[in-house]
Amino acid sequence: MMHVTTTIAEFRAARAALTGSLGLVPTMGFLHEGHLSLVRRARAENAFVAATIFVNPTQFGPSEDLARYPRDLPRDLALLQREGVDLVFAPTVAEMYPPGFSVSIDVGPVATPLEGAARPGHFRGVATVVCKLFNITAPQRAYFGQKDAQQTLVIRRMTTDLNLPVEIVICPTIREPDGLAMSSRNVYLQPEERRAATVLVRALREAQARFAAGERRGDMLRAAMHAVLNAEPLARPEYVSVADLTDLHELDQVTSGALASLAVRIGTTRLIDNCILDDDHHSQEVAR
Ligand code: AMP
Repeated sequence: MMHVTTTIAEFRAARAALTGSLGLVPTMGFLHEGHLSLVRRARAENAFVAATIFVNPTQFGPSEDLARYPRDLPRDLALLQREGVDLVFAPTVAEMYPPGFSVSIDVGPVATPLEGAARPGHFRGVATVVCKLFNITAPQRAYFGQKDAQQTLVIRRMTTDLNLPVEIVICPTIREPDGLAMSSRNVYLQPEERRAATVLVRALREAQARFAAGERRGDMLRAAMHAVLNAEPLARPEYVSVADLTDLHELDQVTSGALASLAVRIGTTRLIDNCILDDDHHSQEVAR
């Protein structure tokens, strides 16, 4: 039986009764196959699996989509139950941020460019809530998606620098049949926007194809992605990046293992995607 908890005390009591490794999958809910792939990996690698469902207000900017972020707790719980999750933590905002709450975690340079620049305060909110969730749930391993590439770097940096005893496991991006990366936010897209939204993966495939064909100039790879985006009238690019995968500095000369990433607005929906460039023409990252 899956045990659903909403308070920290209740979760801790249930967790204390478990002997054997615990795998944690932190989410904001409205679950899709991307989330479930993390759960399955955690299920395969641990004696027990916990999932958290919490739309964390501190990682949303004042003009962002917190109020309309999609939620469906009953459906999420049914999906998690089916995947054999043992423990769920679905706290209220008041449980996580009681009056007087004031500490936050500044991860430093890796949290600064790209998403950090586009969404001031976002990674402060992410790092702080993930640290709290690690402290509450005490997992041996925690599972994150490559879909949020910079977030994985932020979490790894925080875990290392704060000596958190948690192994971070990164799982591949799960995509729709047409290549669109799965995201809870895809539900915002109107039918015409949904068709246009494939422009992100199309731009990444263009960069990957050019890289595999020998293009090594960062500005040419970024320009190739911009050209794909500019051909899509519904797409408004926010950034296009080809950066070093460890420190995210923009690359002049690109080598295998570089991170191509982008953020694009389609109507009122902000979407992100990325791939790791490699020499192989049959790259799995954004495979057709
Ligand atoms: P979220 O609920 O959007 O905060 O995502 C929770 C976790 O699921 C994060 O580690 C995400 O990176 C991961 N995730 C979201 N979408 C995908 C996807 N399409 N493929 C793999 N992991 C994903």
